Amino acid sequence: MHICELLRQHQPCFSFEFFPPRTREGAEQLYASMVDLVPLRPSYVSVTYGAGGSTRELTHGLLIRIQEHTGLTVVSHMTCVGATQAEIGAILGEYQEHGIVNIMALRGDPPKGETAFQQPEGGFAHAAELVAFIKKNFPQMGVGVAGFPEGHPETPNRLLEMDYLRAKVDAGADYICTQLFFDNRDFYDFCERCEIAGITVPVIAGIMPVTSLKGMQRMAELALGARFPARLTKSLVRAKDDEYVERVGIHWATEQVRDLVDHGVRGVHFYTLNRSKATLRIYETLGLKNVSASTD
Ligand SMILES: Cc1cc2nc3c(=O)[nH]c(=O)nc-3n(C[C@H](O)[C@H](O)[C@H](O)COP(=O)(O)OP(=O)(O)OC[C@H]3O[C@@H](n4cnc5c(N)ncnc54)[C@H](O)[C@@H]3O)c2cc1C
Repeated sequence: MHICELLRQHQPCFSFEFFPPRTREGAEQLYASMVDLVPLRPSYVSVTYGAGGSTRELTHGLLIRIQEHTGLTVVSHMTCVGATQAEIGAILGEYQEHGIVNIMALRGDPPKGETAFQQPEGGFAHAAELVAFIKKNFPQMGVGVAGFPEGHPETPNRLLEMDYLRAKVDAGADYICTQLFFDNRDFYDFCERCEIAGITVPVIAGIMPVTSLKGMQRMAELALGARFPARLTKSLVRAKDDEYVERVGIHWATEQVRDLVDHGVRGVHFYTLNRSKATLRIYETLGLKNVSASTD
């Protein structure tokens, strides 16, 4: 089913993101998390696409397994990095054969060791071009795009940001999923700016709880520009020990989700990092168990 259809049926829609593991240990970790999280019956799960297309086969394999074994709707992330139009077309063709009809269309970050995105010869420069390509050649596919409540670090100014986002929607994107954020005011402001820019597709809020101080550092690197509000930072620093840091981080994310739901958010996307504890705790605390299933 298309994500926009699920967004209509499940209000709000809850979804989980996983990445394809590269080691046996990582695979076990993912398997254990799936055992915990699948019974929550998220509206959909998405699988990331490693920088530079480095996980192309792994992403594909994981998507098929999740789809076959759980019956959940899956979304494949796809990037423009290091691939020609023909290669992207071939991958999409394979997805279509396997019944995967939802794509998260991204430009992608540069592969390890490179600092800037390079448009591949015969490939795309921006996500908007990838969206247009999918909609032209695979019109039956649903397409999501990335949004950045705090701004994308490479965008020269915040007005252009909305023009570029609008271009992705005009190219055919059906919904927007945001980068993680820790202050809901940034999300609400972003949604209002979308409205002003004439962007009317649903916006899904991306949530990732801090679970360790090391993880916080990694999040800062991954989501360049992410702002850790002083109130959160103070509590995390006070907690020091990772066990308490995790409690603070999960509590903060729980309050974020509670507030988003109370404000009528269309969807919440949990960046799980292949772990289940934080998402389970948030579900338990907010009484969200089976929330999507109950609206079927
Ligand atoms: C929900 C989500 C999921 C993600 N999943 C993955 C993943 O699986 N794999 C991965 O590698 N990365 C992933 N990313 C990271 C993403 O690939 C990077 O943040 C990337 O730098 C931007 O991607 P984009 O799709 O927003 O690109 P674009 O929309 O193309 O924007 C990229 C940059 O180009 C600028 N730009 C856009 N259009 C134009 C134009 N016409 N002229 C000039 N400048 C322009 C934008 O302002 C921005 O600075 C994800 C991000 C999010 C929010």
